[in-house]
Amino acid sequence: MSAQASDSNFIAFNILSQDKFQQNQNVQSLSEVSPIGKIWDKHRANTDKVLHYYAKADEHYFQQYAWRMKICSELLEFQLVPDESESIFKLKLSDARFCRVRHCPVCQWRRSLMWKARAYKILPQVVTDYPNYRWLFVTLTVKNCQIKEFSTSIILWTSLVINHEIIHSFLAANF
Ligand SMILES: [Zn+2]
Repeated sequence: MSAQASDSNFIAFNILSQDKFQQNQNVQSLSEVSPIGKIWDKHRANTDKVLHYYAKADEHYFQQYAWRMKICSELLEFQLVPDESESIFKLKLSDARFCRVRHCPVCQWRRSLMWKARAYKILPQVVTDYPNYRWLFVTLTVKNCQIKEFSTSIILWTSLVINHEIIHSFLAANF
């Protein structure tokens, strides 16, 4: 960003000027460029921890997971977009390559943001369609099982939740 832009005070983050950036070629983390980078750095650091576990595995496919996670979100492209007030600009992610490994912390974080955005999007319609309904937050748990039974247990729970049997049983017993 140019000094002119920062003088007009419409950039809400700490973008280095072009001259300063060229002097500071060894910028190591996104958080040094913008506060938005702190959350990226946190998840990226967790991805590094998880990929080391995968890399130590004997199985080839786990080692492939490690390699995919290593290059996950390696390059992030942001655009400056006007904020709602239009007096400041925000950084918005415009392009990135993700590994999509199930246990990658970066990808799980991005996935949770996607589901959160979807939920917020449909919320007004749900309230309109069901004005007399109440919200209920339910956490379903199951006793730890043996690792050999894990797959069966997950399939059972998924099918039960999809069929709403547990939800209906819970509501019938408690309301
Ligand atoms: Zn990933």
